[in-house]
Amino acid sequence: MRPGLYLHVPFCRSICPYCDFAVTTGRPMDREGFVESLVSEMRLWDLAGWGFDTVYVGGGTPSSLEPDQLGRILGATGAPGARVFLEANPEDVDSDRARRWRDLGAATLSLGVQSFDPAELRFLGRRHRAPDAIRSVETARDAGFGTVSLDLIYGLPGETQDAWRKNLEAALALSPDHLSCYQLTVEPGTFLGRKRARGELAELPEEERADLFLFTHRYLADAGYPAYEVSNFAASPEHRSSHNQKYWRHVPYLGLGPSAHSFDGARRWWNHRALGDYEAAVGRSERPIAGEETLTAMELALEAVLLGLRTADGIDLALFRERHGFDLVEANRDLVARETSAGRMRVEGGRLWLALEGLAIADGLAATFELSPVEAR
Ligand code: SF4
Repeated sequence: MRPGLYLHVPFCRSICPYCDFAVTTGRPMDREGFVESLVSEMRLWDLAGWGFDTVYVGGGTPSSLEPDQLGRILGATGAPGARVFLEANPEDVDSDRARRWRDLGAATLSLGVQSFDPAELRFLGRRHRAPDAIRSVETARDAGFGTVSLDLIYGLPGETQDAWRKNLEAALALSPDHLSCYQLTVEPGTFLGRKRARGELAELPEEERADLFLFTHRYLADAGYPAYEVSNFAASPEHRSSHNQKYWRHVPYLGLGPSAHSFDGARRWWNHRALGDYEAAVGRSERPIAGEETLTAMELALEAVLLGLRTADGIDLALFRERHGFDLVEANRDLVARETSAGRMRVEGGRLWLALEGLAIADGLAATFELSPVEAR
């Protein structure tokens, strides 16, 4: 796989109460200044030399930029022929904009639908309503997007399986090509996090969250949308996100824009999170890097296990051995025997992967792996 380019647009029309991303509302002149900074940051890198075959414009809300601003950004990527992914919020989608995004080369449109329930949309602080979401999918289709993806959030306080099923039904009625279903996580420092700290927000109990997770995977698989990652479901393999799969397979990627992270196979670095710090560094013709770390061999192996276990393809054991220098199954004979006999793990055809019951506890399972060869202990 060739490297991927991620571009972070830090603007949203309003800030959702659960949002923990590097975002700001900003004025039109702030957006214009940011576009200039991002294009300048691109010039500080030999982008053509990276050989990107995917470009993902995320945020924030990329659709809050004008199409000609997005055009200037995409025109500076030096990645002709790359598959372009664009995130948009339903209220920004109209036929003129959708057509212009297509003209800019965007092939996948990810729509931040989150819910079709009016009360849930209000709780999530979203600006659109269910009819806007439905119209945005139809408009994207009419504009010729080959892959239309919907983002949904579940596990809201008090949410029942029935309520979540209705959301999934509404989503499937639109025949999307791809779905991303994330559980609501309440982060400290967000509006919801402060409510929780004051005792004004009761999160869904862990057991109910786990039940919803299992229900989601079974329901979508039965409907023809098998999971290919713990939160991602595709109607067919060609609609899987070729960009996000790079993150999960430890393929190098470059992230530009405030807070964006990059990875070259061993080293990870990240940009300034605050827009002012980011723009000041770019204004000095410096790469706006705020920090970096070089992963140890063991950290790289742990990440490979953690990321691989969260995907339906699992871990390619020969590739793991080649990259990390030891046999993962041999080093974890007892763990693998226990989990396979419990039906949570499978080892077959040179791969190790998790059954649904294992996927539900993937992070915990990953933490129990021994990450050094038997002879080194
Ligand atoms: S639209 Fe998305 S990125 Fe923007 S504030 Fe809401 S959750 Fe955050």
